[in-house]
Amino acid sequence: MSARILVVDDILPNVKLLEAKLSQEYYDVLTAMNGPDALKKVEEESPDLVLLDVMMPGMDGFEVCTRIKQNPATAHVPVVMVTALTDSVDKVRGLESGADDFLSKPINDVALLARVRSLVRLKMSTDEWRVRENTATQLGVVDESANVMEQSAEKANILIIEDKDFELNKMKQTLMQDHDLVQGVSNGPEALSLIKSQDFELLIVSLNLASEDGLRLCSHLRSNERTRSIPLVMVAGQEDMQRVAHGLEIGAHDYILRPVDRNELLARVRTQIRRKRFQERLRSTYEISLSMALTDSLTGLYNRRYLEVHLEKLLEKNIESKKALAVLMMDIDFFKAVNDTHGHKAGDEVLQTFAQRMKDGLRSFDLVARLGGEEFVAILPDVTTERAYMIAERLRRAIEELPFKISGPAGAISVTTSIGATIITADQPNVSVYTSLERADKMLYDAKAGGRNCVIFEGKGKLDPEEFKGAERRVIE
Ligand code: GH3
Ligand code: MG
Ligand code: MG
Repeated sequence: MSARILVVDDILPNVKLLEAKLSQEYYDVLTAMNGPDALKKVEEESPDLVLLDVMMPGMDGFEVCTRIKQNPATAHVPVVMVTALTDSVDKVRGLESGADDFLSKPINDVALLARVRSLVRLKMSTDEWRVRENTATQLGVVDESANVMEQSAEKANILIIEDKDFELNKMKQTLMQDHDLVQGVSNGPEALSLIKSQDFELLIVSLNLASEDGLRLCSHLRSNERTRSIPLVMVAGQEDMQRVAHGLEIGAHDYILRPVDRNELLARVRTQIRRKRFQERLRSTYEISLSMALTDSLTGLYNRRYLEVHLEKLLEKNIESKKALAVLMMDIDFFKAVNDTHGHKAGDEVLQTFAQRMKDGLRSFDLVARLGGEEFVAILPDVTTERAYMIAERLRRAIEELPFKISGPAGAISVTTSIGATIITADQPNVSVYTSLERADKMLYDAKAGGRNCVIFEGKGKLDPEEFKGAERRVIE
């Protein structure tokens, strides 16, 4: 996976060294030798990753990182702090300023490349969600503002797989500071059974389990559908660096070396939890915005935009499978009078109940949409003519039969609907979405003119309610 990496260091040989190592792996390398220059390049060149030296004259690495992360335009760019400091307090300070990771000088090549690869991969997947969120923003349904650092890192649901009691308790105690809900198990099978029934936000896996290979467990967790998107942090001994690199390679998100430093653990866990929650947020705003763009908020039914796209597909399929499809256009009778007499709120309630009765009266693969106002349409794919008549009559009756509850002094009112319908058979190819709706609409007009509270089918005329009263039992599955 190719990516552009910005290397920031005030000492030229350091820049050159990193540049050489990364270029060898076919990364594009940009360089900057001070804080202000780095900030400018991050904004102008949007690199996929920044390797940032901490100790620089003037603006130091912490400051640069804080600014990158506070700027909404650059906050999503991963930052790795490169530091000669081994003091864990500084590592923590780095992570708290928003750094996604840190590496110690002299840089271990295995760690460097594994880290770079895993962060670049994470960036690519986050970018994809950002693009979709951007589309949603343009549709006008979400406002894009939050960033990773604004996510809460508290009360996370965490599972630790560690068979040394002392180590497990130390981690549990540490994470309690953030009110995390931590559970511990000592082997893979126990972990997998817990994972089946609970949603974890982070998995911490020891690579030094006595009974099994922790790395194999990591690999299993990364390939399993249910656990693939849960961040995974490995805990390993200093001598396990090669296995750690392998773990990062197969998709583990991070690692901590023993002896586990409490501050580092806390900081790394917070980072993973924030990232996970941020990604979840991107995904859910996308899903919500998608459904908002395609459904009607008052009734929850699909809207005209969705109907038109979907009907087009249904019409194509209708011809392919040589079936018949019915289009039912419905309009509430004298709805204006409901608003005028009982108020707009009562009108809305009627629309909601109407929608619910439509849904209840149709099969799951039938489509019902609100076209606007008090006009609805139902599409019944794969129906016989007889069955379409019966369903249309059943829908009309479902409205008429029971009064509609409304808030206000009246309590409940009776409502009726007119229905105009047409059947599109496979031997009528080239019927467009527009034409099929128009044909049903003409019938609806006739139904209104013919007295309302009735169904008129193209080619058949007004249905006789008496004829279909008993039909239900004969045709229903
Ligand atoms: P007809 O039997 O001929 O259909 O008469 P009607 O009164 O139902 O038809 P008309 O088209 O004249 O009136 C429709 C009314 O629906 C007018 C409009 O104020 C109302 N309406 C449209 N959308 C909404 C809505 O979302 N909520 C409410 N409460 N009323 C709505
Ligand atoms: Mg009406
Ligand atoms: Mg109308």
